[in-house]
Amino acid sequence: SSSPLKYRRILLKISGEALMGPGQYGIDNDTVSRIANEVKDAQALGAEICLVIGGGNIFRGVSPAAEGMERASADYMGMLATVMNALAVQNALERIGLYTRVLSAIEMTAICEPYIRRRALRHMEKGRIVIFAAGTGNPFFTTDTAAALRAAEMGCDALLKGTQVDGVYSADPKTDPKAERFEHLSYHEVLMRDLKVMDQAAISLTRESDIPIVVFPIGVSGGVVGALTGEGASTVISD
Ligand code: UDP
Repeated sequence: SSSPLKYRRILLKISGEALMGPGQYGIDNDTVSRIANEVKDAQALGAEICLVIGGGNIFRGVSPAAEGMERASADYMGMLATVMNALAVQNALERIGLYTRVLSAIEMTAICEPYIRRRALRHMEKGRIVIFAAGTGNPFFTTDTAAALRAAEMGCDALLKGTQVDGVYSADPKTDPKAERFEHLSYHEVLMRDLKVMDQAAISLTRESDIPIVVFPIGVSGGVVGALTGEGASTVISD
């Protein structure tokens, strides 16, 4: 085909922090709008897109706010935070004319559909942007793991992991001038070097399902399309 895309069906993982923009917490409208437009551009090129959004901008299960709380309760609050972010992103996508569905791992039928795998697949076939909310629905997990799980369930060709930098580095590029960006890494290298890309459960899941992870900059305009075409800077993790 003449498509410039390396991957057709993708899961895009965006951390809660990526929605804060210049802020310290919460949701920045301009930032959410920009990301929504990136999704629109990627869809226009023929990509089928589903999203997992984190909740760290609103609540983190291990934050001081959760101190003294039972871990599971704090984690449920974190999952609820991802639902708020999902609704914000859904609105931004609909404002620019895209069709969307939010599917939650925790039933909340007044505000979104429950997650049903076959239904999610059907939405994707119809060209809707599917947003998976409430992570995996289980405490002690992360939205990175949820992203890997849903990517496998949806038969995605790649998991795009948006980060503040343009890939995986040998050291923190913000503090170490000698830090080098990897073009490619194997799942094994990520696990052995304990590189902080995604948590180990997420790496293991993508590895088992043979889904490459593309680590790319979400803060840069054109980042999503660049990751899909391979024209932008990124690190690809695969075997
Ligand atoms: N969380 C959870 N189970 C899941 C996904 C998320 O318990 O399957 C909770 C957990 O407390 C986590 C919070 O939701 O700290 C927010 O998710 P995450 O930290 O992954 O968000 P991100 O860092 O991507 O913004």
